[in-house]
Amino acid sequence: MAERIIILGGGIAGISAKLRNRQGTLVDENPYLTMAPRIIDVISGQNPDYPLIPRPLDYTGSVKSIDFENKKLHLHNKDITYDKVIIALGHSQDYSFIKGSKHINGFSGYHDALELKNKIAHKKHIVIIGGGYLGVELAGAIGSNRVTILEAGTQILAGLPGKFSETASELLSSSGVSIELESPVVEVRKDMVITSGKNYESDLTVFAGGFTGNLPDTMQDITVKNSRMVVNSYLQSVDYPDVYAAGDTMVIENGGFIPMSAIIARSSGITAMENAMGFKSRFKPNNFANIIRVGKNYFGTVGNTFIHGIGARIIKEAAVALTVNQVKEL
Ligand SMILES: Cc1cc2nc3c(=O)[nH]c(=O)nc-3n(C[C@H](O)[C@H](O)[C@H](O)COP(=O)(O)OP(=O)(O)OC[C@H]3O[C@@H](n4cnc5c(N)ncnc54)[C@H](O)[C@@H]3O)c2cc1C
Repeated sequence: MAERIIILGGGIAGISAKLRNRQGTLVDENPYLTMAPRIIDVISGQNPDYPLIPRPLDYTGSVKSIDFENKKLHLHNKDITYDKVIIALGHSQDYSFIKGSKHINGFSGYHDALELKNKIAHKKHIVIIGGGYLGVELAGAIGSNRVTILEAGTQILAGLPGKFSETASELLSSSGVSIELESPVVEVRKDMVITSGKNYESDLTVFAGGFTGNLPDTMQDITVKNSRMVVNSYLQSVDYPDVYAAGDTMVIENGGFIPMSAIIARSSGITAMENAMGFKSRFKPNNFANIIRVGKNYFGTVGNTFIHGIGARIIKEAAVALTVNQVKEL
């Protein structure tokens, strides 16, 4: 009898795994896939439903815990046994380490975007914590002199070639956004953000300082780093050989930095499924394109080439279209 392979999470990694092996069982708590780049469009005024792509599932249910010893998933509404499981539960945020974190708004998913969209219109001083791609794209979508980005490091979009930071800084400054570098946040209050050097008025503070994985607390008896499951280069759990992970949920043991991106999610979903099927595919991360949007401007790299304007926009939109097409194939 064929082995039962369960795919937990029907985001980009999960649907890529399912398309690699249609015998896999796809489980998600949401009847729709959230197209993350389109969350930015919600902030800039698109129809709120724009990021949501309905997709078929084998089971709808929220996973609460996994009994790894007995190979059983506990969903909120039923238990499912597996021979192999691929965990692809995406990302989350953790800013509980910041003093006054109850005054911070998260920005990691669709519901956060809706909430922010409603609040932004009425606020005078909006502080975004973190100048990575999320903070930069969010600030660009608001595009107003009410916005300040507080970045702890010496440049925004750190980790990317310097041209990214230069281009984003110019575009954001011309839309009125202030960028404060070397400004690690020490405390957030209802109406203020305190950094090591200065205080900033803020009636809306948003965290864009990075993502963690999204493993429920009850699943953290396996080896995790930042709530991401630690896997080997075959995307296999370092604790349980029948457990695999893909996309934002995984981090490779002794591997270098791997960005949380759609390209990585797609390729790792395929590799995880191949290994669950019994092939021996080593995962070779290759984030070959990286496009950032600031308001209506697009720029980034394809391979080693820096591009901007319509070419960059087409590449970003083609990546979204690819996922929409994958959903249609399910
Ligand atoms: C605002 C924003 C913009 C982005 N823009 C880009 C971009 O332009 N280009 C790019 O490459 N990347 C971008 N990213 C990152 C990219 O979207 C992610 O890296 C990618 O979606 C990861 O895919 P995934 O399958 O790992 O997770 P996801 O696509 O997040 O899927 C996770 C799935 O797990 C399900 N799930 C979660 N918890 C449970 C549970 N307990 N039970 C059942 N199901 C559950 C969710 O419903 C979801 O369907 C962006 C991210 C954000 C937040």
